[in-house]
Amino acid sequence: MRIEEDLKLDYSDVLLRPKRSTLKSRKDVNLLRTYRFKYSKNEWSGIPIMAANMDGVGELGVAEKLSEFEMITCLTKQHNVKKLKENKKIKSIYQNIALSIGIKKEDFENLDKILKEFSFFNFICIDVANGYSEHFTSFIKSIRDKYPTKTIIAGNVVTADMTQELILSGADIVKVGIGPGSVCTTRIQTGVGYPQLSAVIECADAAHGLGAHIIADGGCTCAGDVAKGFGAGADFVMLGGMLAGHDEGSGKIVKNNGKKYIEFYGSSSDIANKKHYGGLSDYRSSEGKTVRIKYRGKVKDTILNILGGVRSSCTYVGAPSLKQLSKCTTFVRVARQFNDTFGR
Ligand code: 5GP
Repeated sequence: MRIEEDLKLDYSDVLLRPKRSTLKSRKDVNLLRTYRFKYSKNEWSGIPIMAANMDGVGELGVAEKLSEFEMITCLTKQHNVKKLKENKKIKSIYQNIALSIGIKKEDFENLDKILKEFSFFNFICIDVANGYSEHFTSFIKSIRDKYPTKTIIAGNVVTADMTQELILSGADIVKVGIGPGSVCTTRIQTGVGYPQLSAVIECADAAHGLGAHIIADGGCTCAGDVAKGFGAGADFVMLGGMLAGHDEGSGKIVKNNGKKYIEFYGSSSDIANKKHYGGLSDYRSSEGKTVRIKYRGKVKDTILNILGGVRSSCTYVGAPSLKQLSKCTTFVRVARQFNDTFGR
């Protein structure tokens, strides 16, 4: 047994220190980024905030709206040729869509069918809860061999060593985060995890050294956390809970005492397992929960609110563009993130 004594931090443990700046208005802040990916050599431009591949979030309705902002949506693993064919806008939004797969044979076959029908998709997201297995790295290698020109996202991991390993196995972008998610119970169920801010700082450093990119996945509770993710060095920030509960996610709206709610659940929750895989095997336990969140209307309003917040963060720290945010970032460690007298 060993104990690492270094203190690791979460988004809530820090704030961005304000700095003198010459910026006149937040309207002048440029949030667009252009990336060229390590192996695929594809170039992508847009606002690097992503919708997570979760039910109610990684949906085509969300992708249509996010694409208007040049933001990427990671579709859920349940999207197949039939579902994609039904969408009339697919040819105009595909640049901002990532197809998700697990490491099962059926996932691989589904991906193959989709790419035969729609060869234009660029992003493949290979997504497992625990990215630390040898089987996972060999799966990434096989996808890289089969699709040399596709941009491969792989995760999740939280440490520099494994970030490097996934990149050396063929990932262009590594997805970082174990346990920080809004409907994740991994930390409770297994005791495993890593504070998200530190994970992002350490994995970004490892990935950038190899010319690759990272996604800070999970744990953002407000626009300020998104800005902190970028400040910590994330190339992309992925959101689940913050983008849930909207019309475009096509979740079922339920009414209670005159108020509207939408059910939202983790991808490894009992509900998700029942819905997609006919239930959990006996040797596994659920690592996600189900919550009822207040119905939040159009996703556009939430996006505008997030982008407004991130622009404002940039002006406070003197960053004329999102690209400069991490260079302009000094985090201060805090004992209290905000005043909660009246809630948030
Ligand atoms: P959020 O933005 O809601 O805080 O986090 C979203 C992320 O949580 C997802 O992208 C995914 O990585 C993670 N996640 C989603 N569902 C589950 C789950 O059931 N269990 C765990 N451990 N993580 C989940």
